[in-house]
Amino acid sequence: MKRNKSFTKIPFYFVATPIGNLSEFSNRAIDILNNVDFIACEDTRVTGVLLSYYKISKPLISLFEHNEKEKALEIIKQIQKGQTGAYVSDAGYPLISDPGAILVNELLSNDIYISVINGPSALLPALIGSGISTSSFYFRGFLPPKLNLSFDEESCLRTRKETLIFYESPHRIKKTMSYLYDILGDRKVTLARELTKINEEYLYGTLKEFLTFDYKTIKGEIVIVVEGSTISNEDIIFENSKKQVSLLLKENYALKEACKIVSLLNNISKNALYRAFLTDK
Ligand code: SAM
Repeated sequence: MKRNKSFTKIPFYFVATPIGNLSEFSNRAIDILNNVDFIACEDTRVTGVLLSYYKISKPLISLFEHNEKEKALEIIKQIQKGQTGAYVSDAGYPLISDPGAILVNELLSNDIYISVINGPSALLPALIGSGISTSSFYFRGFLPPKLNLSFDEESCLRTRKETLIFYESPHRIKKTMSYLYDILGDRKVTLARELTKINEEYLYGTLKEFLTFDYKTIKGEIVIVVEGSTISNEDIIFENSKKQVSLLLKENYALKEACKIVSLLNNISKNALYRAFLTDK
């Protein structure tokens, strides 16, 4: 067991940075970046803009997804020589759909204390402005590039009662929204785009309404907030069972046999499942 006590001497900081509007950066974050010996960042050009806005000049180390382990070891060497540093990603919190997780773990396993400096992130303003329940939420970040979630992952998303939050880019938003409709059915959804920037916008509707939406007007960075599942656990088990029967039918099982297997596995009525299939046809 380890204890990492804040406000003793912290040699390394993870600092959240603005998600668009450069003035959303705390005095504390600026002080920290002014006082460390070096700054590691995801992209030196992006961080360069922020640092020059705040007239901060420090040696930069570029640490991104594909060199994280190697650069983490370099950073640890600098800290062991007595230097202090900070890591920033391009926008928002490092590690939130951004690099930094390997660095955190390497620092911790070398007994180097870290601290996190708060600031903006896209997910919370999107959730708060969405009008959808904030009492519990599930942050999924980016869906896989080919939108090819497994059966289990899809049913897990479909059955979650928490509000669902996704990150998305404008070139894929249309496909993603239609995929979400396919796997979740019709639900309340809010798109929050270009948060904190001049073109900030919230679009409120349902997944079905967005099927016919003209996405040409959707540019910039986007967060998708979708209402959680409102169906009962019994209905969820029944819906999943129907999907499992469909999978067995594709494997050339007879309908009766498929219903028997799935009803035994899920402890539900074989006849109800069978009837549901005959009605759906
Ligand atoms: N680390 C960031 C954070 O804490 O939010 C997320 C970085 S991730 C690489 C970039 C994605 O975050 C974008 O594709 C978009 O989904 C979301 N995002 C970032 N800035 C945004 C903004 N200003 N408005 C809406 N979404 C934003």
